[in-house]
Amino acid sequence: MVTDLVRQQLAAACHRLAAEGLLIGTAGNVSVRDGDRVAVTATGAVLGELTVDQVVEVDLDGNLVGGSLQPTSEVYLHLSIYGTYDVAAVVHTHAPVSTAASISLGEIPVVHYQQLLLGGAVRVAPYATFGTPQLATRVVAALEGRAAALMANHGSVAIGATLDKAVENALLLEWLCTVYRDALAMGKPATLSRKQQEDVIAAAIARNYGTVQQAPQEGQA
Ligand SMILES: [Zn+2]
Repeated sequence: MVTDLVRQQLAAACHRLAAEGLLIGTAGNVSVRDGDRVAVTATGAVLGELTVDQVVEVDLDGNLVGGSLQPTSEVYLHLSIYGTYDVAAVVHTHAPVSTAASISLGEIPVVHYQQLLLGGAVRVAPYATFGTPQLATRVVAALEGRAAALMANHGSVAIGATLDKAVENALLLEWLCTVYRDALAMGKPATLSRKQQEDVIAAAIARNYGTVQQAPQEGQA
């Protein structure tokens, strides 16, 4: 049983993604896994105004177990991801710059060190009709070793160990696509070499980058 708190958190995540311009009208969908249940946005819901009543509960086979509305048409995309990767949340958007990148590019090469938080070069899953198992299979493959991917001529998908992390990854991907678009407009973007990427990862581990640092208490070394 998905708790009311999870429903509220899912609604809040949708409101934030809509405020940031990533979810537009009814386009896109978000889910959170809670054990063997998945809370997912209802089809046709305006995501920027999503209410807890518009959160649908399904089991891992897609059977409706809570709520009276139909789940998003991309429910199998979400379930395929949960069936393959150990993640707790999935964010799918038609965010404008990510979607433009999915139309024009074959991948986003590694052009900024923050991109390594997404796992490296961002793949573009080949096109397939929305809502189909074929699309789900292609997106799952594009996500291997990654926290985000583009879906050709469609949009973006981001995953995370928590709902907040999946939201952050969706925002990071849209930022990255925006920066890369501008870099392409200015000239020929340079990419980070394998050595440069390895050095970033080593530095991040050494500094515990990306996690909140506790300031040393007085009297401690
Ligand atoms: Zn879509």
